[in-house]
Amino acid sequence: MARTTNDGIWDWNLSTNKIEWNVRARTMLRSASVSVTEAPRSFLAHIHPEDQSAVREAFRKTITNHAPIQCEFRVVGSNGHQIWVYLAGDCIRDTSTGAVRIIGSLTDITEKKSNEARIIHMAYYDALTGLPNRLLFQERLRKAMADREQDGGKMAIFLIDLDRFKIVNDTLGHQVGDMLLVRVAEMLKACVGDENTIARLGGDEFIVMFPSIESEDELSEVADRVLLKLSEPVVLEGTKFYLSASIGASLYPSHGADSETLIKFADLAMYQSKRSGGNRLGYYTENLGVQQVERVNMESGLRLALERGEFVLHYQPQISLATGEIYGAEALIRWQLPSGKFVQPGEFIPLAEETGLIIPIGEWVLDKACKACKQWIAEGMDSPVVSVNISSQQFQQGDFPELVRQVLRNTGIQPRNLCLEITEHMAVLNMEHTIQVLNELVDIGVRIAIDDFGIGQSSLVLLKRLPLHVLKIDPSFIFHMTDNGSDEAIVRGIIEMSHGLGLAVTAEGVETEAQLIRLQQLGCDRIQGYYTGRPMPSEQFIGYFQSLISAGTSRWRI
Ligand code: C2E
Ligand code: MG
Ligand code: MG
Repeated sequence: MARTTNDGIWDWNLSTNKIEWNVRARTMLRSASVSVTEAPRSFLAHIHPEDQSAVREAFRKTITNHAPIQCEFRVVGSNGHQIWVYLAGDCIRDTSTGAVRIIGSLTDITEKKSNEARIIHMAYYDALTGLPNRLLFQERLRKAMADREQDGGKMAIFLIDLDRFKIVNDTLGHQVGDMLLVRVAEMLKACVGDENTIARLGGDEFIVMFPSIESEDELSEVADRVLLKLSEPVVLEGTKFYLSASIGASLYPSHGADSETLIKFADLAMYQSKRSGGNRLGYYTENLGVQQVERVNMESGLRLALERGEFVLHYQPQISLATGEIYGAEALIRWQLPSGKFVQPGEFIPLAEETGLIIPIGEWVLDKACKACKQWIAEGMDSPVVSVNISSQQFQQGDFPELVRQVLRNTGIQPRNLCLEITEHMAVLNMEHTIQVLNELVDIGVRIAIDDFGIGQSSLVLLKRLPLHVLKIDPSFIFHMTDNGSDEAIVRGIIEMSHGLGLAVTAEGVETEAQLIRLQQLGCDRIQGYYTGRPMPSEQFIGYFQSLISAGTSRWRI
């Protein structure tokens, strides 16, 4: 039997207080640098301090209670080397004198123990970063929540998602992505105290639990530390990476009383942080960002804004980089309050979407933008393209392509004069439906652009499945591309891959001549940004291109 051949045997004579070890037992102990003597004390001295009392107790019980010994413990050699052993034994008694000997076996179970530890580690820890995984996090979260329920204390969680990480992975490869994640894990650990658990949920998503907090100030401090730390450049293979993250926080018990709700709310808050440009902490609020009163006011205002004619469209020029010609303009909505103040779309589009008001507003935008385009043609512009942002709700409407046909008929512009912008986030919500609607729109002859590309979870691979014409690179990549090697590499990657897929590329947020020149060198097709023109009313846009026409070039000077 393998067991007996591998087991060592020992025999402790209680009257002489000496232990005899057989050859196998000696070899086993020597392998751990334990000098084997007959003195029981010398063996006991080699037992790991944390295991000593349990072993002593097992021996005591076998003498007093006749209980057989079965225990697992660590034996530590003089050089610090450690093995795990399983020790079994039983007491032999004499009817007159009682216990006389204890005999038993000794088995080396080091390998079994390390396998066990590995399995536990695999089940509870993330292989890439070594951080706890979702499972361990949830166990600790539930435990901490139960503790807080007992003592009436507060706790919180952070959901941390790296900004624009997906595109780093896609353009620079998974190996670079993995290395970055390992570095991020280290940076996060350095910012979050040991008493708090930090786990990786998967991808570029991390979660932190603060099992006990006094006030939200503590959380803001940690978030500041994290954001500051991430802003330090990470150098990998000679390239500098600048990272940032969006953080969402939710609190127990004020936001949620169970772990799932708490995580879901932190996720909502994180997404809101991301939509506001990332690199920030946001707390979960019932209306996420919009205060109750403000929201009610805004909602009733928004309902009336259409009939009161308070919406205006501004148009931002798009310039072809190859020729310098004006390609067209993107229609961007603004809401002008009776006070004259302009409300930016970021502030009211989310509410318009939430309340469904985006449907009539979107129809108005489409109609108005196409009419403006008609006028530009009348004013001498040669086949301009007007780009219109489409919200996911408009897109979900069954008759959206029919609406587009109608607007084209009513305004009399050609389908090729209209480009519809959808976001990557929206495209992946319901892929099958997206593909079907896009195909119908392509059949009509309008162009389709994917907007804000690079900040979400979609990938270039996915674009292959969508019938698209234009890809718009998110401004966040353009802002630093001339001083940040990784951003430039990403932009180059996006341009190359887009061209491979037959898509034209528009870079958004071009603010400097240096960016324009670099984009031109990289083969980018078009640009849109403050450098070549801010969003402006239609009349001003007419003046903009007419001044170029009268200069005899009808081109931007590039
Ligand atoms: P978007 O479609 O990605 O529009 C581009 C945004 O970038 C615009 O902000 C524009 O003003 C800004 N931008 C352009 N060039 C530069 C630059 O060089 N530097 C900087 N810092 N920013 C630049 P805006 O007008 O505030 O619009 C924000 C978002 O609101 C739009 O992002 C779009 O998603 C949404 N939106 C605007 N109009 C409409 C609309 O009619 N319908 C819908 N559904 N959404 C709209
Ligand atoms: Mg857009
Ligand atoms: Mg955009």
